Amino acid sequence: MVVTTTRADTGEPLYSTFASRYFELGWCRSRNRFKMPERSIPKEAAYQIINDELMLDGNPRLNLASFVTTWMEPECDRLIISAINKNYVDMDGYPVTTELQNRCVNMISHLFNAPIGEDEIAVGVGTVGSSEAIMLAGLAFKRKWQNQRKAEGKPHDKPNIVTGANVQVCWEKFANYFDVELKEVKLREGFYVMDPVKAVEMVDENTICVAAILGSTLTGEFEDIKLLNHLLTEKNRETGWSTPIHVDAASGGFVAPFLYPDLEWDFRLPLVKSINVSGHKYGLVYAGVGWIVWRNKEDLPEELIFHINYLGSDQPTFTLNFSKGSSQIIAQYYQFIRLGFEGYRSIMENCMENAKALKEGIQATGRFEIVSGDVGVPLVTFSLRDSSRYTVFDVSESLRRFGWIVPAYTMPAGAEHMAVLRMVIREDFSRSLAERLVSDIRKVVADLDGRWARTAIVAEVKAEEKPGGVVAYRKSVRETTQQQEIDGDRRGRVDRKKTSGVC
Ligand SMILES: *Cc1c(COP(=O)(O)O)cnc(C)c1O
Repeated sequence: MVVTTTRADTGEPLYSTFASRYFELGWCRSRNRFKMPERSIPKEAAYQIINDELMLDGNPRLNLASFVTTWMEPECDRLIISAINKNYVDMDGYPVTTELQNRCVNMISHLFNAPIGEDEIAVGVGTVGSSEAIMLAGLAFKRKWQNQRKAEGKPHDKPNIVTGANVQVCWEKFANYFDVELKEVKLREGFYVMDPVKAVEMVDENTICVAAILGSTLTGEFEDIKLLNHLLTEKNRETGWSTPIHVDAASGGFVAPFLYPDLEWDFRLPLVKSINVSGHKYGLVYAGVGWIVWRNKEDLPEELIFHINYLGSDQPTFTLNFSKGSSQIIAQYYQFIRLGFEGYRSIMENCMENAKALKEGIQATGRFEIVSGDVGVPLVTFSLRDSSRYTVFDVSESLRRFGWIVPAYTMPAGAEHMAVLRMVIREDFSRSLAERLVSDIRKVVADLDGRWARTAIVAEVKAEEKPGGVVAYRKSVRETTQQQEIDGDRRGRVDRKKTSGVC
């Protein structure tokens, strides 16, 4: 971009030059970048500097690490830009935006089969994402349990939640921030979701809820929530407790209703009291929107809802933060009325088809084992059959050369020895991209094979040239050291990846 503007203080014109040249060369690399600059710069220069630096980010459309939406229709982009200056929390100032949010909450509640009468309004709220939604759901369960325990004159200071070890990090955050113990059912080889039998065994009188996942972050699998509901109902009957279920449907909430309408996982099961879903995952909206819906009014203690009147009329609010943008809510409403049930179903079917094609392509290489199942959210999780020469972390890193962002990580407690790669299939990942990706994976594997073969031959030749000689001895020591460095580096990377979230 050519910047033709004038320096504010000197009147000196800028012709045919990049803004980053104008703006003190090297500024962005020096420590100064952490301090606000003394002087203003022209808007074109600011734009250019930032735009240049952002070019080094990955391409979101090639980022297969994330469920989060990376493409929307241009008409919706326009709605988003025009609502960018509206504060969602100002319900009195923007009553139409508030109304759109309420319509979304009701549509989602109906989609999840909440028992809502004809003239009843659903209970729920738009959030920044599933993480905030889960904090709110967890707080409602905690408060309900505490109230019940107080009424019974029993101790109420040691609440816990039972989940699988495959839970997303937001559950660990909830437990940590709000003083609730997280009791995790360990995974085991070949079984990477919560086992409902073990989960129900772990439930005790201090359990505020069992959190089940519809669409495990790691493998996309749905947990058996129907069986969980059955077993927990029996346990509640035996013990006199009333332990409820929360469903974390962050990724699967907009997949299951369209692809598996007969699968019972939602409010059709009596113990399911609340469900969260990420609008910005298969809800098909850009990052920044999630939803939490409750079965009934009674499942959300009234005392958690604040009523404010300083922006106009009485406004109930139950969110963790106050102000935020409205665009994502409007975009969600756009997708609901634009696509309808039919549109969501065909998009999800298409994603599944593409996931299947990708899976078959990967299988055909003969090098990988597919870990994800056929039913679930559209993703492919796979591991290397032979990790003795290179690992999934090398494959992940090599794919970056072609622009692909494909994360590799180790599985959680119980299956931590297993390292996998995961590719999430979104609406904008077309069949031709899937074919490209498979061909790039083949190239990467061939390249890694070749590199290994070359190292092996060099080592052999050296050993033959000077058998037992001093030089050969030194060389082989250096080689070993290099290998150790590589191994050490790899270990470091594995340790870092363990906690680096996939989202
Ligand atoms: C993505 C995800 C979350 C977190 O959701 P955000 O919308 O990113 O906050 C929670 N649980 C599961 C199962 C997820 O896949």
